Amino acid sequence: MDDIDKKFLLNKDNNQFKKCVFCEDNILEYEHGYVVEKAYKYNNKSNDFEIIFEYALCLECVQHLSSEMSEESTNNIEKYFEANVKPLSASQLIDLKARTETCMITGESLSKSKEYQIAAVYQKESMIINERFPFAISGIIIEEIQELISEKTRNFTDKFKDLIIPPQERDKIPKDRILIF
Ligand SMILES: [Zn+2]
Repeated sequence: MDDIDKKFLLNKDNNQFKKCVFCEDNILEYEHGYVVEKAYKYNNKSNDFEIIFEYALCLECVQHLSSEMSEESTNNIEKYFEANVKPLSASQLIDLKARTETCMITGESLSKSKEYQIAAVYQKESMIINERFPFAISGIIIEEIQELISEKTRNFTDKFKDLIIPPQERDKIPKDRILIF
């Protein structure tokens, strides 16, 4: 496992993700793959980024959960990415270090942002690489995307947040910080 795979496959306790957060199936035996998403926030006290939430979600559940989002939100987000993501050259496509350390919209290093989110799709322990994944967005873009989300979808993402974030952690997470792809 190289460093990039470790970043996605291991949780903050250094254990490998094994279960889908939603259906709890074993993702390492699931042939269709799963998405891992992590959100980081800069901690002024420790002078380092800390993980504010992380989860693995099987692709079947991704599909199921995406269908709960309003059509308006899905279209808005789709249009936003079409308009703002620059096509990648063949060498950029496979430059996983750059793709997981710089914002896919602004092109800036994630380390310059107060918060950021990354995501990747895996099949067992192999990353699936395409135009959209791996995925990295900086705080300013997270804000922009939140504005594209309708009230209905917001209620739904709040419910999802309750599922993946332990109660004692919820206060630390800014509102509307869950994205499902
Ligand atoms: Zn699942």
